Amino acid sequence: MSNWNLDVFYTSNEDFEKDLKTFEGKIEAFNKFKGNLNQFESFRDYILFDERTTMDFYKLYAYAHLSSDLNLKDTEKQARYQKVLIVMNKLSSVTSYVSPEMIKVGKETLLSFIDKDVRLEPHRFSIEKLFKQQEHVLSDSEEKLLSNFRPVSSVPTQLYTSLSVTDRVDEVITLSDGQELTINTSNWRSLLPTFKDPDDRAKIFSAAFKRYKENKDAFAATYNLVLQNMAASYKSRDYKSALESKLEGNDIPLDVFLTLKDTAYNNTAPIKRYLALRKKHLKLDKYHTYDRFLKLASSDKTYSYEEAKALFFEALEGYDEEFVNNEKRALEDGYVDVEIKDGKRTGAYSSGFYGYHPYILLNHDKTLDSVFTLVHEAGHSAHTIFSNESQPLATSDYTIFVAEIASTFNERLLADHLLEKATNKADKITIIENEIDGIMSTFYRQTLFAHYEYEANKLVEQGIPLNAENLSQIMIDLYLHYYDLDITKEDGKQYVWAYIPHLFRTPFYVYQYASSYAASLKIYGDVKAGVPNAMEKYKGLLKSGGSDFPVNQAKLAGADLTKKETFEAVVCRFNQLIDLLEAILEN
Ligand SMILES: [Zn+2]
Repeated sequence: MSNWNLDVFYTSNEDFEKDLKTFEGKIEAFNKFKGNLNQFESFRDYILFDERTTMDFYKLYAYAHLSSDLNLKDTEKQARYQKVLIVMNKLSSVTSYVSPEMIKVGKETLLSFIDKDVRLEPHRFSIEKLFKQQEHVLSDSEEKLLSNFRPVSSVPTQLYTSLSVTDRVDEVITLSDGQELTINTSNWRSLLPTFKDPDDRAKIFSAAFKRYKENKDAFAATYNLVLQNMAASYKSRDYKSALESKLEGNDIPLDVFLTLKDTAYNNTAPIKRYLALRKKHLKLDKYHTYDRFLKLASSDKTYSYEEAKALFFEALEGYDEEFVNNEKRALEDGYVDVEIKDGKRTGAYSSGFYGYHPYILLNHDKTLDSVFTLVHEAGHSAHTIFSNESQPLATSDYTIFVAEIASTFNERLLADHLLEKATNKADKITIIENEIDGIMSTFYRQTLFAHYEYEANKLVEQGIPLNAENLSQIMIDLYLHYYDLDITKEDGKQYVWAYIPHLFRTPFYVYQYASSYAASLKIYGDVKAGVPNAMEKYKGLLKSGGSDFPVNQAKLAGADLTKKETFEAVVCRFNQLIDLLEAILEN
């Protein structure tokens, strides 16, 4: 079965509605703890009540969110999801007194409460985290005031969804041979490399980015709203910058971000070397950013979902039993939605809820890329399984920072397996090219986007209004530096900032793809080389869930992200892969 089975949550809309109503009624009960958190019994009851409420909410949220993603055009499902979001806002409004009140009670008192009851023990880390951020928690009335704005803060991402998904129409283009082609956001990347004529490729790209070009001002205004929102929040809470407000929650040193950004920026020579090699062997007169989808070797190999899965299981052979088991469990029937469907959310993700098996959304297009996507998401789900089974609810939720270690670890594992299996030149080229593409897209491209966010936020901090022109200029400059490519020559490419959902939905998120990629490469290298205890240390990271700060977790597993050398190792591997590729291509 290649569809989600959501029956574990609800089998009918009536049951869902009934539960939602009951839940709404229970929320008010949070008020009875207000003003009493300085007493042990009240504090204990609050913690236990909050845990039960969270679990109840997960059930409602998971059902509404997952079913809505299966068809974003289904208004009934969308309305259901909106209802859950409204309840979520109510919940956060009703509990807005908690953090300020806990701060008033004081760290020592709260920790002494935790000492009294073993059921409270899992909350020690969150209490310690809370007091780490103490200076940014405002007074009771100020927090209440800010919580009123929470529904407003989700508006920009709703706008972005409307602009980029809901209101989107497919573009129909006519190619040089008279053939008509329908282009949409999910098919253009796989269609583009199938056309030999550079003009046809330009047309496909132009059609894919038409929406961003035509609505550039609406996208820019939406993005402005995202950053202004973030600015209002970091200023209200007295952080030095938006970036620091995003990093501090997970205790990530600013240096990790800056070292990554600068190391990538200062090591773009291999990119240019690689692009020159590609241009030569692809026999192109001019190289465009979208030519990255062209393949150096022709392989018409396709992978059905079942084949992709079998390949992954083969790659897992010989690895630690517990690790392999959880990776396999991640792909159990009913928990993976495989096919591309109209209205379905594009891309891929793994979504986990404590107490439930994690769900994977795919848009499997049978390419080698989609096999890598499959193992990537399986890595996330296996991580969730490890964490949920080792951690209590309070510390089960791991950060995205460690999340991407688990996913890219699997990609390296699959790549090595494929490379070992490869017998002919074309297959070897395809796999090396794919590995390099991982470094290009996950390490460099994501760091470029992080750099873009850094620059865009700098404009906001300087009080310079954001518009389509200055946002595009940042991208133009970065692409020129990184790739030596002038993106103003590609119709619509300068609006690439509008094309990346993460920049709108979760600002200062994408850098973690790159830093996690580097950490993962180090950890995988250790496991593969048979460094004593490397697998145990890696499983330790997966099991530790959200019980520690991510930079610590990575360090304990063998990757120190405060050191520039960890990032330079990616550059080193990049050069080695180009050497390998060059040797095969030029022989
Ligand atoms: Zn991921």
